[in-house]
Amino acid sequence: MAPALFFIHAWENHHGQAAMALYVQKFGGTSVGSVERIKAVAEKVKRFRDEGHQVVVVVSAMSGETNRLIDLASQINDEPTPREMDMLVSTGEQVTSSLLAMALHKLDVAATSYTGGQVGIQTDSAHTKARIQRIETDDIQEDLDDGQVVVVAGFQGVDDEGNITTLGRGGSDTTGVALAAALKADECQIYTDVDGVYTTDPRVCSKAQRLSSITVEEMLELASLGSKVLQIRAVEFAGKYNVPLRVLSSFEDGPGTLIVAEEEEASMEEPLISGIAFTSSEAKLTLLNTPDVPGVASKILGPIADTNIEIDMIVQNVAPAGDYTDFTFTVAKSDFTQTRSILQDQVIPALGGGELRGDENIAKVSLVGVGMRSHAGVASKMFRVLADENINIRMVSTSEIKISVVIDEKQMELAVRALHSAFGLDKDSIQGE
Ligand code: ASP
Ligand code: MG
Repeated sequence: MAPALFFIHAWENHHGQAAMALYVQKFGGTSVGSVERIKAVAEKVKRFRDEGHQVVVVVSAMSGETNRLIDLASQINDEPTPREMDMLVSTGEQVTSSLLAMALHKLDVAATSYTGGQVGIQTDSAHTKARIQRIETDDIQEDLDDGQVVVVAGFQGVDDEGNITTLGRGGSDTTGVALAAALKADECQIYTDVDGVYTTDPRVCSKAQRLSSITVEEMLELASLGSKVLQIRAVEFAGKYNVPLRVLSSFEDGPGTLIVAEEEEASMEEPLISGIAFTSSEAKLTLLNTPDVPGVASKILGPIADTNIEIDMIVQNVAPAGDYTDFTFTVAKSDFTQTRSILQDQVIPALGGGELRGDENIAKVSLVGVGMRSHAGVASKMFRVLADENINIRMVSTSEIKISVVIDEKQMELAVRALHSAFGLDKDSIQGE
């Protein structure tokens, strides 16, 4: 992974200004969604070059393009091979990379575009969800040293046989972070249509605010809870290789949100809670009166896991007499009907009994924050806030830096706003306690 040439970055010049740095800048689909937007990206890149920085740009396909290509495939073959899908969908990024290089040329900025394979991004052969194995950075480094902007088609690589592979939806983020790691860039900047990571979704809570920084762990929790700001794998990569990662808007100037390792954050004023995630995309299933003997949980969940249905929260209660339990768990709403059939047709007969209840009208609301690791009482405060709003808690699950509750879907937005305010996250309020 190490670049062949020794490379000095971020030195200070005699006037004390930060001097030449190496940036990897990734622009998402909306940021390159039209000819005008592509020209605007070129202007932005030029400003960095004019300041003396080296720039590697990673681009997504124009917004909507990947879906359009997938749709074309489905009209021709409802089971296309993954290899052909990768040939197809990788073209979206190739289009934007060349267009951006042309836009830079119009501004007299030297630039060359490359596909993932051309630029040495080697992956395994798991088409449509390939993993990067190594990156040969020599050619990029040579171009950079020649004063070129290197424009790379995101989302793709090449396997050992030379087949084009892709990295999974949203995979251009991973291309950006992986290139930044391999090149030891000073910062990986992810330009998108929001100006950073927010305490919660501003569409639900008008008092949500942009976080100036967030830890890798918190970002991973938020991403796995459904925040779509960054691809999970990109965040993992940034954590593993210590890549300074910043999310910022391609539409307006601003500092964005810096995603940092926890040690760096520790010196800052640490809020108890950094963000609130929520989703109404899960459904709940309960088996009542199942026998309380070893092996029951596995008998219930085994057939579901065998069908590749993912189970999220699980709660088991023992009846007072101790011989029977109630077993409750959640799955994606889209898996609800199939899960119910499996329980009804396979599990209940195998257990010799049990009564099935289902509820599709639930929501999961989660508090996330590394601060809760060192503070007791976050859960009890959360429960008190919900009680004050007359919100009934149906399930609870916790990790070191997260507490999730399942509640009635109708009360989701109320819960988010009440918690946001109670934990001091509202705009213009003082954080923490
Ligand atoms: N164009 C690909 C997608 O839509 C990759 C990306 O944009 O990151 O998933
Ligand atoms: Mg994306």
